[in-house]
Amino acid sequence: MLRKNRLFTPGPTPLLPAAQVAMASANIHHRTADFRAIYSRTLADLKELIGTRNDVLLLVSSGTGAMEAAVSNLNSAGDKVLVLTAGKFGERWQELTTRFGCKVEILSAAYGQTFSPADIQAGLDSSIRTVFVQATESSTGVRHDVEAIARLLRSHAPDALLVVDAITGLGTTHLDVDSWGIDFIIGGSQKALMIPPGLAYCAVSERAWARMETTQFPRYYFDLRRERKAAAKGESAFTPATSLVVALAAALDYLRQLGNGDLGAGRNVLIAGAEICAEMTRAAAQALGLKLFASAPAAALTAITSPYAIDSGKIVAAFRDKFGAVVANGQAEMKGKLFRIAHIGYYDYLDTIGIIGALELVLDSLGLKVETGSGLRAAQQVWTKSNAGQLSRA
Ligand SMILES: *Cc1c(COP(=O)(O)O)cnc(C)c1O
Repeated sequence: MLRKNRLFTPGPTPLLPAAQVAMASANIHHRTADFRAIYSRTLADLKELIGTRNDVLLLVSSGTGAMEAAVSNLNSAGDKVLVLTAGKFGERWQELTTRFGCKVEILSAAYGQTFSPADIQAGLDSSIRTVFVQATESSTGVRHDVEAIARLLRSHAPDALLVVDAITGLGTTHLDVDSWGIDFIIGGSQKALMIPPGLAYCAVSERAWARMETTQFPRYYFDLRRERKAAAKGESAFTPATSLVVALAAALDYLRQLGNGDLGAGRNVLIAGAEICAEMTRAAAQALGLKLFASAPAAALTAITSPYAIDSGKIVAAFRDKFGAVVANGQAEMKGKLFRIAHIGYYDYLDTIGIIGALELVLDSLGLKVETGSGLRAAQQVWTKSNAGQLSRA
């Protein structure tokens, strides 16, 4: 039988056709008025997408490049920083800040868990310069409470800057960047933006810009002050990935259409979609007798514990071999123990129903007793009860 390859991974995510077409036809020089117009409009649209008044920059790198830029631009050797970590991406903050030479305080939670407010409060004091956290920890499927973290920071370490890796958070969860006081928020092109990997973006507060006037870590490619000057003129400091920028412009146009002319409304449609698909997936997994790995599940992805200690690699392989579905295994220590299904970006009801149907048959093929259809039934009930379900019946 015909088998379509489909991505259910927390990045890269399914590509938006209009963005692919735009990308394929991009033949443009980056120091021209035409490109400056596209670049300026894209930066302005990203501000609307993020929902911030802060300056937004685009960087030609994977998301980790912007994470490194946050560390190198906002800190100096010996700065005391606090890293909140509960998974592989939290550990990336730990590695980055350590490698650069910060004095790193760690607040960790077990994989699958999030931080308690009391622990965060205990970890904060006025000597902390910067706090690093994920909005959603893609390795475990956990959502961290960024609003609560920001509030604690304001009262217990008001001078500390808050840096949020929202690479899978943006476009899947509500983040009120300016009123919560997120100083540096990071996104990546291969997540909710529906285009290939290769671009990172960030919104930077005035406090963070002021900090950069005095920090001492070396930086060159990721010198954000230089990038900001170029961006003000509609350019990037170095040769940008022009085809990806054109694709991004098309994706942002699509989101504006989705919001009937309002990009912020389009973003909210995207978030609501992720939420309902995640809820359907969680309900289906539980109806099939599976355990969710995350204590506070994100809408970006659902991490499911492999049942009966089956190597989750077998589940991932069966999805691929039987259905052409690319589902993510656990990372590092979690490899073999869980699998992850994402609900990010260009992803909808039919994708969700498809992967749940496939999940039932994958489990069945591995010899597990599952009542075929019970996961689908639970998912349908979630959909029918939801706003989206009501609208689709109207
Ligand atoms: C995808 C992702 C990253 C970035 O990974 P890159 O491979 O550098 O793009 C960072 N943090 C989270 C939470 C992610 O999901």
